[in-house]
Amino acid sequence: MTLVPHFVAGRKTPGDSGRTQDVFNPVEGEVSAQVPLATAEEVAQAVTAAEEAFPAWSGLNAQRRARILLKWVDLITENMDELATLLSNEHGKTFPDAKGDIQRGVEVVEFAAGAPHLLKGEFSSGAGTGIDVHSLRQPLGVVAGITPFNFPAMIPLWKAGIALAAGNTFVLKPSERDPSVPVRLAELAVEAGMPAGALNVVHGDKTAVDALIEDPRVRAIGFVGSSPIAQSIYSAAAAQNKRAQCFGGAKNHMVIMPDADLEQAADALIGAAFGSAGERCMAISVAVPVGEATADRLRALLEERIATLTLGPSLEPSSDFGPVVSAQAKERIESYIAAGEKEGAELVVDGRGATVDGHPNGFWVGATLFDHVTTDMSIYREEIFGPVLCIARAADYEEALRLPSEHEYGNGVAIFTRDGDTARDFTTRVEVGMVGVNVPIPVPIAYYTFGGWKASGFGDLNQHGTDGLKFYTKTKTVTTRWPSGTKEGASFVMPAGS
Ligand code: NAD
Repeated sequence: MTLVPHFVAGRKTPGDSGRTQDVFNPVEGEVSAQVPLATAEEVAQAVTAAEEAFPAWSGLNAQRRARILLKWVDLITENMDELATLLSNEHGKTFPDAKGDIQRGVEVVEFAAGAPHLLKGEFSSGAGTGIDVHSLRQPLGVVAGITPFNFPAMIPLWKAGIALAAGNTFVLKPSERDPSVPVRLAELAVEAGMPAGALNVVHGDKTAVDALIEDPRVRAIGFVGSSPIAQSIYSAAAAQNKRAQCFGGAKNHMVIMPDADLEQAADALIGAAFGSAGERCMAISVAVPVGEATADRLRALLEERIATLTLGPSLEPSSDFGPVVSAQAKERIESYIAAGEKEGAELVVDGRGATVDGHPNGFWVGATLFDHVTTDMSIYREEIFGPVLCIARAADYEEALRLPSEHEYGNGVAIFTRDGDTARDFTTRVEVGMVGVNVPIPVPIAYYTFGGWKASGFGDLNQHGTDGLKFYTKTKTVTTRWPSGTKEGASFVMPAGS
């Protein structure tokens, strides 16, 4: 049985904790590898490797670090097919979607390669008589990333790319469900010229995460995953006086106004709800058509399209989406479908019991559509994280605006309309962090920042973009006076700007 190794100090290591977890191929429903679950001591060894690499890596000028990052980008791109296959085989998303996962990560590393410019500080000449003031951004030291299964390339690259560009060294604790791609990415980083120990990957569960939080040498924790864990890690990191940004789950709505192009809206919904089997934090899980006539027409268009969807193996070009990640995920999603029916929603299309020829044990869940979903139902309130789309009908625009604004989660939202006033009002007033106008999945590009509101994000700064650099650096402000200036003797008064 293949063992997915840790990657510490530039070397693959099997670990010796004696604890492992199965990694599955979700298409076959079979174990494809095992991943070691690190002990606290093994995590400490990875932190030591990062600590030892820090002086040289942070001492390299930012331009040279950027050159290595760009070489890393080249190597990732050259190995794209191999990485995407590995990713599909452990996650279950289709091959083109796996490439998209990697590409969106690469784009952030490309952005991070602008660090020499982005890290520039401020300078004020003559802030007082003979006094200059400047600020500089310095790396924090060893920082950690704890990442989810659903983007095993993109999110590690978002975190490590920015942190490394700023001169930090990094310990990544990726999801234990699809651990191979992060290890391969770290190997490619070393091949690109990154010094051993600058980027380490250590696998594990709560034991490893707790060890990272408790290790005083780890200065910052960047987490992405489900909200309860995000919240608890945020609190635990704060209790250790370390900075943290912890992004959580989602329940993304798409409002469809009566004037929208409904064919376009239906196509957008199908891709956004069922792409990657709904296992995206920016997937649309609630459609909010405004008015009964819009709702009826939209529902008919969705039903037509769902009937033509192909559920199939991840590497099969004809598949629109693949299996969900694990047997537990399948069970959870199916139990939500049962709950929705019990709570009184109308189950229009039932994805339970879906099968795919030749792959009898795959973790298949077909596209599922509910109508007449109300705000008290668990399928509306909770994150299902599967191919389940709920139609929650709104009587008018104000009700449609209230639904995402009052929901516990606030990651992404979209509005489909042809009316500029409505779109502007919506983008201004909606209480959600990322908004699309006729764009169903508004994941911000690398040079903007990514982050949800409310229970979707804990911490002040977003991921990537300039916020990412702020998170992974600390500001130092230097006030300078040279001795040739006027000698005033001791002063006992607080110096003021004027
Ligand atoms: P998860 O919370 O189960 O796991 C995330 C990470 O936390 C993994 O590395 C896991 O090993 C670790 N972990 C799990 N249990 C832990 C515990 N008790 N203590 C400490 N660490 C623990 O999430 P997942 O199932 O891997 O990913 C899906 C979730 O991530 C969804 O809720 C999705 O919405 C969310 N997500 C959010 C964003 C975002 O940017 N907001 C992006 C992608 C995914």
